[in-house]
Amino acid sequence: MPVVGRLRAALHRDVRILAYHRVLPSVAPADFRFDLDLVSASSEAFRRQLAIIRRRFAPMRFDELADCLDRGRRVPSRAVLITFDDGYDDNYRIAFPLLREAGLSAMFFVSSGHIDTGRPYAYDWLVHMLCSTTQPRLLAPELGIDWSLPAAGAEGLAERRRLAGQLLDRIKTLDAAGQQALVERLQREWDMPDAAGHPDCRPMTWAQLREMHAAGMEIGSHGVDHRMLAKLSPAAMREEVAGSKQAIEAALGATVVAMSYPVGGRDAYDDAVMAATRDAGYRLACSYLAGCERLQPASRFQMRRLPVERHVDAGWFEGMLSLPELFCHRSRDTGR
Ligand SMILES: [Zn+2]
Repeated sequence: MPVVGRLRAALHRDVRILAYHRVLPSVAPADFRFDLDLVSASSEAFRRQLAIIRRRFAPMRFDELADCLDRGRRVPSRAVLITFDDGYDDNYRIAFPLLREAGLSAMFFVSSGHIDTGRPYAYDWLVHMLCSTTQPRLLAPELGIDWSLPAAGAEGLAERRRLAGQLLDRIKTLDAAGQQALVERLQREWDMPDAAGHPDCRPMTWAQLREMHAAGMEIGSHGVDHRMLAKLSPAAMREEVAGSKQAIEAALGATVVAMSYPVGGRDAYDDAVMAATRDAGYRLACSYLAGCERLQPASRFQMRRLPVERHVDAGWFEGMLSLPELFCHRSRDTGR
């Protein structure tokens, strides 16, 4: 495979943009009642992945990639960029020290409205409510859902997780107001307000982001409130795109180069979203569509990424970077 991978790299000058969400000490934490699909790697696996990137690939930053595109320069062969979406505090506690140890930089796309608030991300709180409620039923007539829930203890947790995954897929078909209304109604009816927060689902603080930025990490935008941008009114969409950039720049005293669209599938962004992103002054933007990025001018505001999933071992990880056409997970072209 190394020979084939090198041959491929010589033929295709593309970049591999890795997409992570969370790195935790274990990918199967005991009694974890949040979205396990957001756990991209254990700390040990992440350390090994960083070693592979350092040894065999050409790590790159987003500002360097934007410069290459602006000046018409070729990107290095086997270029790799590392990204994190959402802004969970394990990014600071676990991923950041490992990145520093490896001498690598990463881009952290954060939803600015969550930073410093302790307020969990809505989709993950929805999973948490479904995995933890003592209610016997979930009623969501707007989605045609009337499900009886298994017992709330450890034995029912796997089935509740499966139902939560289905609910996440279904709720993303609603417009942004409909999604918000459903999450807020369940918080009220089940008496599980997100304001209570939870140590397993905590956003980073501005102080943490400033420290990371000062140490060479890049901080980008993932909207203000993690809304699916294409499902908002034009004015609300532009506020998410431009407002998040302004908030991060004001807090860090630095220019925000790139954005990643929340959820990031084909129903999460459109031409109007990409135009608003360009007009707000971003130089690059990422979708959550799976694949390698060939860097066509048209793809500058919808760059594909390679999602890292928690069951990926070191061999698969290296294969995914060397031969993404064979090893990339294309089954789920949407994020969280
Ligand atoms: Zn996200």
